[in-house]
Amino acid sequence: MKALCWNGVNDLRVERVPDPSILNPQDAIVRVIMSSVCGSDLHLLDGYVPSMKAGDIIGHEFIGEVVEVGAGVKKLKKGDRVVVGSIIGCGGCEFCQTDQWSLCDNSNPNPEITEKAYGYPTAGIFGYSHAFGGYAGSHAELVRVPFAETGSFKLPEGLPDESLVFVSDAFPTGFMAADMCGIAPGDTVAVWGAGGVGQMAIQSAYLLGAGRVIAIDRFKDRLEKAKTHGKAEVLNYEEVDVLEALKEMTGGRGPDRCIDAVGMEAHTTGIEQYYDKAKQTLRMQTGRPAVLRQAIMACRKGGTVSIVGVYGGLLDKFPMGAAMNKALTFRMGQMFAQKYIPQLLEVVAEGRVDPSYLLTHKWTLDQGPEGYKMFKEKTDNCMRVVFTP
Ligand SMILES: [Zn+2]
Ligand SMILES: [Zn+2]
Repeated sequence: MKALCWNGVNDLRVERVPDPSILNPQDAIVRVIMSSVCGSDLHLLDGYVPSMKAGDIIGHEFIGEVVEVGAGVKKLKKGDRVVVGSIIGCGGCEFCQTDQWSLCDNSNPNPEITEKAYGYPTAGIFGYSHAFGGYAGSHAELVRVPFAETGSFKLPEGLPDESLVFVSDAFPTGFMAADMCGIAPGDTVAVWGAGGVGQMAIQSAYLLGAGRVIAIDRFKDRLEKAKTHGKAEVLNYEEVDVLEALKEMTGGRGPDRCIDAVGMEAHTTGIEQYYDKAKQTLRMQTGRPAVLRQAIMACRKGGTVSIVGVYGGLLDKFPMGAAMNKALTFRMGQMFAQKYIPQLLEVVAEGRVDPSYLLTHKWTLDQGPEGYKMFKEKTDNCMRVVFTP
């Protein structure tokens, strides 16, 4: 089959690879209908996630059709159209049983890597390095889906693929960001990053009762979408001092809840950007935490900082004093796909949120390398590219 393979930093190629096959009775093979790029893939492209190997198939957000099931799979059959969560969970361990799917004890066949880096191993993720299981990703014609019954959800009838594909990853990640905030009715929520996940965090904050949402980015088209589709107020951090502006907009109090939907490759202005970039390049820190620092400083006393932008390792100049003395609550994590996907399919089916506006470019898998280049450079107002094999 055809697949989009990582071959080194910024080196993606469309290659011919062997078709996947059932390796475990709980597997299914899914023919990909649509597979999306994700901001967290850029960390792979840029070489900030170790344990990638040449030839690895990337991609973790997709919908498809079941073409084969293992002997242990009863709830799915050939021909079912499904959305598959990006996080792989066994369904039986203590963490899956308590709906903390990205902490699954059994879905990562290479537990020693994250065990060493993080103290304990974490779950497998499609197409996201050998540290996260070494699973082949979804930018391919076919994907092997382990623990298929727990991670695949049948698509409601009559809705376009463009509205459903983002229920795999961007929407549940944004929803979890808002859910972790513990939003009280009327709260003001600030969201850093108005890409796919940020846009979904904005929508989700309102679903969960926020009174106001303020989106922070520098790309005008993304801020425009946050405004028109998300009903957010917007700040362009290249044009205003974000901390001052947030203070002013909230009567000197600060936002109640702050969401980091950016992660380890944050961009900022002035000397802070040069400092972070230099330290990251020299491997003296693994992430550039400009957004996280700003969220901590901006957050009101007693507020919550919720982090879904991905971090891999160590950070420098982390304002722990501000966090401690303001009694902030921190919530974070890779998303709990299987917990959120069923309820979000209902939200989409009811028409309460239509994530299809995230999709700006629909290309074929052959255009994968160009698609990622455009997504990375954010040319042509690119928010999300989806590939159809
Ligand atoms: Zn993702
Ligand atoms: Zn598990």
